[in-house]
Amino acid sequence: MSDRFFPNVMPDFAEETTEQQDDTTGESLLKLLSMPYPSLSQRFKRAALDLKETIVMETWGLTGQHVRDFTLYNGALGTAFLLFKAYQVDKNKNDLGLCLEIVKACDSSSSASRDVTFICGRAGVCALGVVAAKCAGNEQLLKYYLSQFREVISFVCSSFNGIIKLSRNVPNELLYGRIGYLWSCLFLNKHIGDGTIPSTTTRAVIDEIIKDGRELAKRGGPPLMYEWYGTKYWGAAHGLAGIMHVLMDFVLTPDEAEDVKATLKYMIKNRFLSGNYPVSEEDRKRDILVHWCHGAPGVGLTLVKAAKVFEDKEFLEAAEDAADVVWNRGLLKRVGICHGISGNAYMFLSLYHLTGNLEFLYRAKAFACFLLDRAHKLIAKGEMHGGDNPHSLFEGLGGMAYLFLDMFEPPEARFPAYEL
Ligand SMILES: [Zn+2]
Repeated sequence: MSDRFFPNVMPDFAEETTEQQDDTTGESLLKLLSMPYPSLSQRFKRAALDLKETIVMETWGLTGQHVRDFTLYNGALGTAFLLFKAYQVDKNKNDLGLCLEIVKACDSSSSASRDVTFICGRAGVCALGVVAAKCAGNEQLLKYYLSQFREVISFVCSSFNGIIKLSRNVPNELLYGRIGYLWSCLFLNKHIGDGTIPSTTTRAVIDEIIKDGRELAKRGGPPLMYEWYGTKYWGAAHGLAGIMHVLMDFVLTPDEAEDVKATLKYMIKNRFLSGNYPVSEEDRKRDILVHWCHGAPGVGLTLVKAAKVFEDKEFLEAAEDAADVVWNRGLLKRVGICHGISGNAYMFLSLYHLTGNLEFLYRAKAFACFLLDRAHKLIAKGEMHGGDNPHSLFEGLGGMAYLFLDMFEPPEARFPAYEL
């Protein structure tokens, strides 16, 4: 088990010094941890912007190319999303221009896609297109992408005459399913304005998700349950944690809210003794994965949100337990957002936002400093996995660059394409 992650030997807390330490003494990681934050945040920003250049070269090239994989998860849209974040932090118009160029290529290559989500589907292409076009002040382009976004759902509707009925073939999970479509609607409503995607549309999808969840629930189990390819997953990417996370961003009826709450309490009650969470309802014995996609980091983000939405201490305590698991076993031998150190750092950032406790900010900083100090060296030595798609947002260095940009302004940090 221990070969999945590096033992975390970083101090539980390190005070920041008021002055720069002498560069000739001590260990580089410890020096980063005690560096005054204003200096450290500049280091993160510089490293992120340098990485961004490499990622653009590797995934897009100098003049653009045919987009093989358009998705945000592993493909070109991930680079566009990183450029959009870089623009938000650095206000360099070239980043916004290139973001729109890549979105345009993704628009062409996703036109036949029937996937409706932000992370793996065409909804992400159109939604990012709308928001980037708004930032660029291009009203005509904004309208184009918005009309394309509105067509996305018609791909998977069995009827579209005032009543939306999604095809039974669409799953409910985040990466390919209904909840991933709903997240795209939230993203648009946040950036363009409430009602851009009206609640009549989102409500119809929520109804289907709740109906499916109640149908699959069994006596003695949680009130909501889902499956993806025959497995009842618990995690953020394909399972309960991701579905509950996005549902809590909508206005729910009292009985729906109770079902969400009780489903999360069931997960807390049935977690491992270690505080980690099983991959699925079927696989409740192997306490191995500490990823955003499967395990404590992804479930923990949902519990932080539940603590905020329901104002229930049990959720906060469980989220803090999840954070301990991430601190001890989450220094993974991978860099990415989905199942790497970068994604795991967001567990601490999320708790920092909710509680204001600087110890959580320190833990996020420690994970990010570990990457800043060692990721390239460890990958070069073969001691860390560079990722099957080494420059992608969700599995590769794109995720690390995104985290570094978020560490520039931690109060604004949000897990990409997942936290609003
Ligand atoms: Zn993963």
